[in-house]
Amino acid sequence: MARIIVLTVWIIIAVSMRHIGEAKEWSLLQAPSEIQQRLIRDPLSISLASTDYGHIIHQNPTAIFAPISVTDISNLIQFSNSLPIPFGIAARGQAHSVHGQSMARDGVVVNMTALTEGRGVVVVPDGGALGPYADVGGEAIWIDVLHAALKRGLTPLSWTDYLYLSVGGTLSNAGISGQTFLFGPQISNVHQLHVVTGKGELVTCSTDNNKELFYAVLGGLGQFGIITRARIALGPAPTRVKWLRLLYNKFTEFSGDQEHLIAMNGRNETIGANYVEGFLLLNQPPLDLSFYPEADKPRITSLVTQYGIIYIIELVKYYDNTTQQHVHEDVALLVQGLKFVPTFMFEKDVSYEEFLNRVHSDELALRSQGLWEVPHPWLNLFVPRSRISDVDEGVFKGIMLKQNINPGIVIVYPVNRSKWDDNMSAVTPNEDIFYVVSILRATDFDKLEAFEAQNQEILQFCEDNGIGIKQYLPQNKTHQEWMLHFGPKWTLFKQRKQEFDPRNILSPGQGIFN
Ligand code: FAD
Repeated sequence: MARIIVLTVWIIIAVSMRHIGEAKEWSLLQAPSEIQQRLIRDPLSISLASTDYGHIIHQNPTAIFAPISVTDISNLIQFSNSLPIPFGIAARGQAHSVHGQSMARDGVVVNMTALTEGRGVVVVPDGGALGPYADVGGEAIWIDVLHAALKRGLTPLSWTDYLYLSVGGTLSNAGISGQTFLFGPQISNVHQLHVVTGKGELVTCSTDNNKELFYAVLGGLGQFGIITRARIALGPAPTRVKWLRLLYNKFTEFSGDQEHLIAMNGRNETIGANYVEGFLLLNQPPLDLSFYPEADKPRITSLVTQYGIIYIIELVKYYDNTTQQHVHEDVALLVQGLKFVPTFMFEKDVSYEEFLNRVHSDELALRSQGLWEVPHPWLNLFVPRSRISDVDEGVFKGIMLKQNINPGIVIVYPVNRSKWDDNMSAVTPNEDIFYVVSILRATDFDKLEAFEAQNQEILQFCEDNGIGIKQYLPQNKTHQEWMLHFGPKWTLFKQRKQEFDPRNILSPGQGIFN
């Protein structure tokens, strides 16, 4: 009865205020003081929380929440649950999403970087049966995890290309890079999580303990709980890397060699690569040739002009003091028989950290030119191996090469599905090997529409030709499209939502349940 009265009063208020947003603001004003004191509502903070790295979507929250402790997060979620119509709550790690995924229109954005309880990275070199691991806050960024681990001669095994992303944000997606073929995505390298569920409950979970929540949260797009702590697997850190780029003029040779490289480790761990990725170099200037020696840039440019599109394998061999004397032979074995254009192999020797943190120097350069805070109409796809040549013909050559809009960076590399755990929420194509295809562009606002139209055309091509892609970092889907995206996992995904966030409070910016 009391609940009906509260609901009626709330509806009267909502109608009289006309806007649901105003009504939610009113609700927040009724929050207990321990919540009120952590709310921030000044226009500048609201405006910052209404945007992300994509600069495409803008959604104003009612307030930003700056939790000091995990209990603060739990209190906020419980308060929302207590209302007749709850407000949405989005954890915001680094807001490096590109389509509003960490926003909460008329709701509350939780600034994870404010969290001080349990802050920092605790490295445990001898974790018994688990081996070495690090306990890190969900708000931590990967560069900090790397620094802490390196001090003990250790390192996380699986990476993203860019390290200024939060642990909670990447574990909500997958976390992929050139090590994924070997160790699986970052979600495959987590032993345990501390999570505040959509009901406000604090739960420790792993494959042995509350495993349904553990699997739900990993790759779960923030739908089931807020990760406040994660136990990340570590291994011995190398000190240096041989960093190679091999140029190809034929796609089948490029992808054939990539698949050969990712199969090598299965056969012999010591001769295999430690990292395999790939890029396209389309004849759409300006070409990014910063990796290559000055003297070689003219002949690389002519190769691109001649073929219109060049494919580049990027691979890495780690080494340290003990393996230093044979690293040259290891690299020679690695590239033996590969079909790159003769003499178009380039090599650098850098520290392990310099290699892992390679995107940061690009970031600094772009920031200094005012080119970082611009729209990023990105499209990330997982493509089944059996159809990657169709994507080369139809998308790279058919759509991107023909339409002369600057391609930005296009990353293409295969990974082994056996390294992913199908119990987790992340979705992949149903083939043993699938390709990551990341079309990463930056543009002016006036050209944004053209890029978005091209992304739609690419998705339409894949649909019309039954390519069977799955979107990584998925965005902008209708209910029907979400069901298709999750495929056979949809029913379980919905059941888990019902169990852990029954009132659809968490990460509304993903647009799955609201
Ligand atoms: P946010 O954008 O803040 O959040 C993303 C989603 O996760 C939101 O729904 C949010 O509510 C939720 N969330 C955030 N924190 C938590 C938490 N603690 N608990 C539960 N849910 C949470 N990805 C790769 O896999 N590999 C790459 O190499 C890679 N490179 C990138 C390079 C750049 C320059 C950029 C901008 C992105 C890159 N990404 C890459 C994508 C990136 O992994 C995702 O966008 C990721 O979500 C970013 O983390 P974040 O902390 O910014 O998350």
